Amino acid sequence: MLEISIIKCLQDNYSYLVRDKKTNLIAIVDPSEFLKVDQEINKKYKKLDFILNTHHHSDHVGGNLALKAKYKSQIICSAYDQDKVPGADIKKKDNDYFIFGETKFKIIHVPGHTLDHIIFFSEIDSVLFSGDTLFSLGCGRVFEGSYEQMFSSLEKIKKLPKNTKIYCGHEYTNNNGKFCIKIDKDNLNLKKRIKEVKSKIDFKEPTIPTTLQEEIETNIFLRYDDKKIKKSIGIDNASNIEVFKKLRNLKDQF
Ligand code: ZN
Ligand code: FE
Repeated sequence: MLEISIIKCLQDNYSYLVRDKKTNLIAIVDPSEFLKVDQEINKKYKKLDFILNTHHHSDHVGGNLALKAKYKSQIICSAYDQDKVPGADIKKKDNDYFIFGETKFKIIHVPGHTLDHIIFFSEIDSVLFSGDTLFSLGCGRVFEGSYEQMFSSLEKIKKLPKNTKIYCGHEYTNNNGKFCIKIDKDNLNLKKRIKEVKSKIDFKEPTIPTTLQEEIETNIFLRYDDKKIKKSIGIDNASNIEVFKKLRNLKDQF
């Protein structure tokens, strides 16, 4: 089983410090920066066995080299990174596993935001580190991949167990909610969630983790098959992928 601490980094990034309770192995997911992560390691465990990266963007790998130098950690990243992840040691492909003590992370390749993007899923813990692919009430921008790739990546996530807790790369939930409600006006679950999110933000608490169940009910980027949403963006008879494309484009201009 895992113990997870949330570390706020940079403007709105989250890094996750993770301990496998049985073996006391320690890992960090997407260390945005050295200092914040190092402070937390000092407070808690004083060691770092692994660094896990979801993709090569600097706000997710910024702490890699300094942490690796200090703690002699091994860096686990995507096999599709085109050597863009600093300090990479072990590269993982789609459907590979990363064995972290008693915890088994399944690697799922989810191209779209970047071509190398992978996510880490522990079935036993019902935990997903989703990086910049699925956000709470949103999804990542399509930078390197195609809309088709991003769409099928989100479809892969949608098939995971509904009780999966989602730990994503950024605190964007408040702003994402404003966009969702503009399109999905009558969604009562969404309205309720927006209230909960606001109170967390007011208390400066993270809105993370969310669950896949909540996301399927409230995140329009997983609701491209909903008739009301299709209607609300004026493409009643469009395919799910067309709806996804239009939603993503509208969000890019929001
Ligand atoms: Zn990114
Ligand atoms: Fe990011």
